[in-house]
Amino acid sequence: MTEAAPEAVTAITPAPRLRVQSMKEYHPPLGNRDLLRLDFNENTLACSPRVREVLGRISAGDLTRYPEREPVETIVAAHLGLAAPQVALTNGVDEAIHVLFETFLEAGDELLLPVPTYTMYEVYASATDAHLVPVLAADDLQFPIERLIAAITPRTKIIAIANPNSPSGSVASRAQLLQIAHRAPHAVLLVDEAYFHFHGETVIDLVRALPNLVVARTFSKAYGLAGLRLGLLAGPVELMRWVRRVLSPYSVNSLALACLPPALEDSSYIDWYVSEVLRARHDFEAALDAAKLRRWPSCANFILVDIGPQHAEFVRLMRAAGVLVRDRSSDPGCDGRVRITIGTREQMQQAVLALNEAIAALKLGGEAQ
Ligand code: PMP
Repeated sequence: MTEAAPEAVTAITPAPRLRVQSMKEYHPPLGNRDLLRLDFNENTLACSPRVREVLGRISAGDLTRYPEREPVETIVAAHLGLAAPQVALTNGVDEAIHVLFETFLEAGDELLLPVPTYTMYEVYASATDAHLVPVLAADDLQFPIERLIAAITPRTKIIAIANPNSPSGSVASRAQLLQIAHRAPHAVLLVDEAYFHFHGETVIDLVRALPNLVVARTFSKAYGLAGLRLGLLAGPVELMRWVRRVLSPYSVNSLALACLPPALEDSSYIDWYVSEVLRARHDFEAALDAAKLRRWPSCANFILVDIGPQHAEFVRLMRAAGVLVRDRSSDPGCDGRVRITIGTREQMQQAVLALNEAIAALKLGGEAQ
């Protein structure tokens, strides 16, 4: 007997919220990355061997349980010199940004964003009813402190600052961040310290003193755990209480939770990786200077380089030579600029060979550009 065809459903597509209708889908260019990955500012090598050991010991039975975040939050808080209620673990900093925006941004609120900066602030802001107020840096891409202060209004609700910033590599000083926190006491100041280890300066201690400061950290960069999705928010208990209402209790999975304590304990691995990257950055800067390519000073594990009108061809040639780099031309004020992640010295030697070939092929550098 043949089954009767299901009754046709009236052809109406349920509509999402208006804001969602005007959002664009964001697709980071992640395809075919089995090459030298100098495109996403990840650790280009590996995580600590101690993390691998812990991962190897996880049993099938361990995976049957829901993840419990709190004990690991206590360990992380102690590591940061904070109390457990001041720290929330998240599924990468991306979730931290998303949750913070969902917690605080309402219709009519303003999100102040120095640009160019990390793309996901704008993506998550576009899902809210708040108004995005970009504050464009000057050509030197230094932190636009005066313009930012001038843009603060009574409606400013969040000020999001990546420190060091991406793609520029520039930094805001502790004094500047303090000035902003004091000038906007009615707003949350988010300081995203994703690249903290390469800079070495932090304001995370200030969350004990400032009622409106929230600091984000990630385990995707120096720690080499981008695939596990681990980040955190640290802030005053009064703010974190609201954040926890919005945060999913299970968004940080049990593999990530198991790996976090050994990752934190192995500080010698982080020290080694960071010093390797800083040496490689120094050498790579010299190679860029020798090639007469304009670059911006960087306090992170990447450098922004001015390639000019042939930026897309440059990225293509680098890929053909086995090196992935990231075209940032569509970022505000970044036309013709390409961001290159810094890996180990050995990896960067390969990058310099590819760079010099691309420069010769495209006749880049100095007057020729
Ligand atoms: N913040 C900044 C400034 C970043 O550059 C990045 C990653 N590129 C992130 C946050 C995202 O970190 P996570 O992998 O923890 O989501």
